[in-house]
Amino acid sequence: MSASAGHRSEGPAHNRCLFARRVVHEKEEETTEREEEDDEEEEEDKSSDEGLLLQAHHAMERMEEFVHKMWEGRWRVIPHDVLPDWLKDNDFLLHGHRPPMPSFRACFKSIFRIHTETGNIWTHLLGCLFFVCLGIVYMFRPNMSFVAPFQEKIVIGAFFLGAILCLSFSWLFHTVYCHSEGVSRVFSKLDYSGIAFLIMGSFVPWLYYSFYCSPQPCFIYLIVVCILGIAAITVSQCDFFATPQYRGVRAGVFVGLGLSGVVPTLHFMITEGFLRATTMGQMGWLFLMAVLYITGACLYAARIPERFFPGKCDIWFHSHQLFHILVVAGAFVHFHGVSNLQEFRYTAGGGCAEEGGV
Ligand SMILES: [Zn+2]
Repeated sequence: MSASAGHRSEGPAHNRCLFARRVVHEKEEETTEREEEDDEEEEEDKSSDEGLLLQAHHAMERMEEFVHKMWEGRWRVIPHDVLPDWLKDNDFLLHGHRPPMPSFRACFKSIFRIHTETGNIWTHLLGCLFFVCLGIVYMFRPNMSFVAPFQEKIVIGAFFLGAILCLSFSWLFHTVYCHSEGVSRVFSKLDYSGIAFLIMGSFVPWLYYSFYCSPQPCFIYLIVVCILGIAAITVSQCDFFATPQYRGVRAGVFVGLGLSGVVPTLHFMITEGFLRATTMGQMGWLFLMAVLYITGACLYAARIPERFFPGKCDIWFHSHQLFHILVVAGAFVHFHGVSNLQEFRYTAGGGCAEEGGV
């Protein structure tokens, strides 16, 4: 009992002693090892500090990315009355607006979400793809379908360029419109300039084929429409032009630019006669095009139908979407009319008749 008690009393002391020695020994070993490694560690210290900083930086970046992804996926549409002033455009669209999203990635991802701009984006995104495909097909048509292939492809190419620029500026504007005040301002100016490009580009082949045998008036009308188009682009660079109060002025500027085509139309009708103008001159298609564009501009300016059903057209069928659809339809009708003009020129053999007409 006592022996065992003595053993019990000596045992732990002995163990502690051994342990202490081992610790001292290990510490000595560690010290010598440390002394040996000191130089290396000093050198490594700096690089490990830098490594830690880099790791921390990467961790922060990953964290930010994670938060950003969470935020990008989690935004909800908001009502019109809580929008910041720069996002308030149409107070008849009561709900379904995107909040301000200062991230281009979030803006582009929102293309696939349902909100007030979804229809505006897709109408012109699909319209743009349609005209890109049509333009490629047209440009690669066999040269024998043209009287002067190079010249005619440049002339019709001007129309395609105008249409593609207009539609791509438009869908881009509607996509990034909610990014920030500065971004929306820059892209709205591009959007308005795009409409002027479409109108100018549309005039080029129409004037070319309509005044095929009278290059002088053709050239003068082209110069005039370019000056008017540049004037419209210049005025659309003013900040006030994009404000809701100037909606009617905007519609008026572009309808006025388009209606400047009335002068060459009358010129053509007087010189060729009404019958030839409607058959050969494709006036019917041009008239339909004008009706489509002007109807679109009127709906846009008056904000019809949402004016009569506030809150009912927030997502689909509001005035801006209808205006977009009518612009694509109007551009296609114009292309069809111009193709017919081109076809006529080709079947007529391209020469200017002795009577001086066509
Ligand atoms: Zn638009």
